[in-house]
Amino acid sequence: MNSNLNANKDLHIVRREDLPQLFNILIKDGHQIVGPTLRDGAIVLDVLEGVAELPLGWTDEQDKARYRLVKRKDEALFGYSCGPQTWKKFLFPPDHILFKADKTRHGWRIDAGENAPPKFAFLGMRACDIHALTELDKVFIAGEYQDSAYLERRENIFIISINCSVVGNNCFCTSMGSGPGAASGYDLALTEIIDGDLHYYLIEVGSEKGEEVLGEIKHRTASQEEIRKGNELLTAAAQAISLKVDTEKLPKILKKSVEHPRWKEIASRCLTCGNCTMVCPTCFCSTVQDYTDLRGSQASRLRKWDSCFNIEYSYIHGGSVRYSSEARYRQWMMHKFASWIDQFGSFGCVGCGRCITWCPAGIDVTEELRFFCQNPLLDTTAKSA
Ligand code: SF4
Ligand code: SF4
Repeated sequence: MNSNLNANKDLHIVRREDLPQLFNILIKDGHQIVGPTLRDGAIVLDVLEGVAELPLGWTDEQDKARYRLVKRKDEALFGYSCGPQTWKKFLFPPDHILFKADKTRHGWRIDAGENAPPKFAFLGMRACDIHALTELDKVFIAGEYQDSAYLERRENIFIISINCSVVGNNCFCTSMGSGPGAASGYDLALTEIIDGDLHYYLIEVGSEKGEEVLGEIKHRTASQEEIRKGNELLTAAAQAISLKVDTEKLPKILKKSVEHPRWKEIASRCLTCGNCTMVCPTCFCSTVQDYTDLRGSQASRLRKWDSCFNIEYSYIHGGSVRYSSEARYRQWMMHKFASWIDQFGSFGCVGCGRCITWCPAGIDVTEELRFFCQNPLLDTTAKSA
């Protein structure tokens, strides 16, 4: 958990009115800036041209199966917790063309897919989302085989994180050690402070590139009082997080709960819609589909997001391995909170709470985890779901 600004770093102040300079510098440097903006009643992530597109004066209210935008009393630009979308869609797109093939008189001409991706600048990443990126890196590029499409996008990102001063009802990053402040993984980390008529950003530099960019923006050294205010906001955010999960024995308990009757009970509520996996910043299931046109002269191969909640996802010759809803929910939870540790040495959940907000059945993963912790099943001799 990081609820303090880094005392070993110099902290800087950029005034709200000077923030457009950040956009100008990054755009001049060839970056495509992606950040939060209002659309369809939600704060979504999209390509931004300037500060005016940020969700000025808006916040979100979240609960189980509930998300609402509400006007704030001030003009904060980052005064919300987290929206339904995650940054993974820019690195691991929901539909990615692996290659196209065109029939010519001389045979098939293969086109290696999409054009080179843009050089992204991610503005407004939360600490939990930076942690999620670290998990995706483990999946896509840290192992023996690297995903070249992900790597190409990932290499050039400039990350501007925003420390959380607003937390949602479904956030539990403090339990997962991933927030509310960013400890690393950014080029610049901003804390937005509104103090009466003063509106400014307390900035931590996380890389040489970050230092270079900051050097081109009007800024000054932060005072002790300004740093104190930043720390106060972060501490208050950490204290405001009421959802808790005791992760210490969780993997062990879950592994012993394979035959727990609770899976059936959850399955009676779960619609297996897969929403939780679509909004999750660390879920990475995909499938490959081939398409041809009606004349048979063009073909393309696409990689598309998939979900372990889809019955077809576990299809092998003769049928699906995880046929029942309980088997699929169990697979999802066991992977996030137990077997991910065996695979990658960490949890596959960063506590962003999106799966709670966007589950139409209002299933709260923290409530389920607490149930398993409080009612462990040690007898593993019963029949599997
Ligand atoms: S837990 Fe909720 S969001 Fe996930 S598949 Fe079940 S009903 Fe859908
Ligand atoms: S499992 Fe839920 S809370 Fe955890 S990272 Fe995924 S969406 Fe966020």
